[in-house]
Amino acid sequence: MKILVIEDEKALAGLIEQTLQKSGYGVTLAGSVAEAREKLAQPFEAIISDRRLPDGDGLDLVAELRAANNATPVLMLTAMGLPQERVKGLDAGADDYLPKPFSLYELQARLRALLRRSGGPQGVKLASGNVTLDTLHGTVQVDGKTVPMGKRELSLLTELMRRAGQVVSKDVLEHGAPSGGRNALEVALHRLRKNLADHGADIEIATVRGVGYWIVDENAAPAAQ
Ligand code: CA
Repeated sequence: MKILVIEDEKALAGLIEQTLQKSGYGVTLAGSVAEAREKLAQPFEAIISDRRLPDGDGLDLVAELRAANNATPVLMLTAMGLPQERVKGLDAGADDYLPKPFSLYELQARLRALLRRSGGPQGVKLASGNVTLDTLHGTVQVDGKTVPMGKRELSLLTELMRRAGQVVSKDVLEHGAPSGGRNALEVALHRLRKNLADHGADIEIATVRGVGYWIVDENAAPAAQ
């Protein structure tokens, strides 16, 4: 479960990071709107964002995401706890609003509620061609039959299926993977392609040289479980 935390107060950002990591979340920190935009090249299950950032308002970033059809749930943190500010935040597309100062317990409870509403912990069923992937149980099926799959291949397939029909960059696919360089990625992809082909999958993982990989399936669409 990957969470992007956008907060420029380093001490607070560190505290949130530690707390969430202890609860088993993967945390990526961004200290500015620009940095957050960069990090958002990869998908997150949720975003926790401060409003007053050195280069802008966290709320503008939320509006930007929503305009781009990015529905990642957002919890806004801010010292601006006035009711009209809260309404403004929700109007801009934030899913919840937590005024500072807040307790870390409350932050975690709000995050859990947010993920529950967005279907996070219940998992998502992804489908491409005759392949389905259950993100909660980490299972892959071809035509309804389970395909055994290593952890690395499963995480690659998840990233690719989440963005079926789009080219996914090597950097995104390598994110969070054990180090081993480009070659390790290619080896894992080779195994994944073979595994899928051996089990009769009708999707193909195509290479865009020097850029990344993508799943060729025109009918691909994520479906909620
Ligand atoms: Ca701030």
